[in-house]
Amino acid sequence: MKLTMHLGANSYDIILKRGCLSNLYQFTDLAHRRVFILTDSGVPEQYAKTVLDQCANGAVFTIPQGEGSKCLKVYGDVLSAMLDFGMDRKDLLVAVGGGVVGDLGGFCAASYMRGISFVNCPTTTLAQIDSSIGGKTAIDLGSAKNIVGAFWQPSVVLIDPDTLATLPRRQFINGLAEAVKAGLIADPQLFDIFENGDIDAEIETIIYRSLLVKKKIVQADERENGARKALNFGHTIGHGIEAVKGVRGRRTNGLYHGECVALGMLPMIEDKSLQKRTRAVLRKLGLPVRTGVNKKKVLEYMRHDKKGAGSTITVIRVPGLGCWRADTIPVTELPALLGVEEE
Ligand code: NAD
Ligand code: ZN
Repeated sequence: MKLTMHLGANSYDIILKRGCLSNLYQFTDLAHRRVFILTDSGVPEQYAKTVLDQCANGAVFTIPQGEGSKCLKVYGDVLSAMLDFGMDRKDLLVAVGGGVVGDLGGFCAASYMRGISFVNCPTTTLAQIDSSIGGKTAIDLGSAKNIVGAFWQPSVVLIDPDTLATLPRRQFINGLAEAVKAGLIADPQLFDIFENGDIDAEIETIIYRSLLVKKKIVQADERENGARKALNFGHTIGHGIEAVKGVRGRRTNGLYHGECVALGMLPMIEDKSLQKRTRAVLRKLGLPVRTGVNKKKVLEYMRHDKKGAGSTITVIRVPGLGCWRADTIPVTELPALLGVEEE
């Protein structure tokens, strides 16, 4: 399956096909330029090697796995390695891994010599469903997530669902939370797969339909001024939960991003019966439905969140299946959303 992201001069194809990683050379020139392949220590080596084997002049650079690699130090290490490899403006960076490798690799490509070509080969459900398209690249500064980055579109995104076979189950399910989100805001048929279908058998359809939702939204709004807000559904509260209980730094036993988003979506569904159905879907998937976090701490974080412009905050609500609405509310309404009584 092929999708084209129509963004004028920045347009690119998204290829979704089992085994397509072995055919990357058909979609981008690997023969006449240097190819710098970025991966991390948790991604099975065979994937980067599959890409390397197709290059006339390629090199693999492996960073430590985990969010901690989205930092200035590793960013510098990658740029230095690119320079040592002799990369110039016409050369290519290929990211092979999850959202960490994609976000960091994309930012390295965006900034090296003011921007070189970038190809993304996502290998986690989260990256295949969500982070590999949309053009957002970034690294973190300490605990401030994605605070330094750029919009940089890939020249092609190659999604090989076969790579998901090695992904730990919890990671696999984590990424699906973003697909449940896509279903809720824009695609009742996608939501139906989660309610009544077999997620393993229908994973390609799930990825495809989720990408279609994101593609339409991003095409309408490349830089997040209007419609793109919809993708933040579940994320305002989700980020608050992630700040308090997410996997971060030394807190290695926390919640994953998708798990936090799942929790963040529930209070923002206005229709009570849809809320109940969503809770059932999350339970069936094995995603959390109860936060178990200190809601006051979540609130504290949300009040200082970068998306809250002063005394108001924009939240995305789903009034019914397949539709959404952005509401700008006073931060004083946040406690009620989280079910916290203000002193
Ligand atoms: P990740 O990249 O850390 O991958 C999760 C783990 O799975 C890692 O340990 C990795 O080594 C391992 N892994 C990757 N592929 C594998 C495979 N096929 N088999 C076995 N193990 C594999 O995490 P993620 O969930 O993919 O991405 C999270 C990141 O994505 C965050 O930094 C987040 O900020 C970013 N993100 C970006 C966007 C965007 O629009 N750019 C959107 C959402 C999230
Ligand atoms: Zn997300």
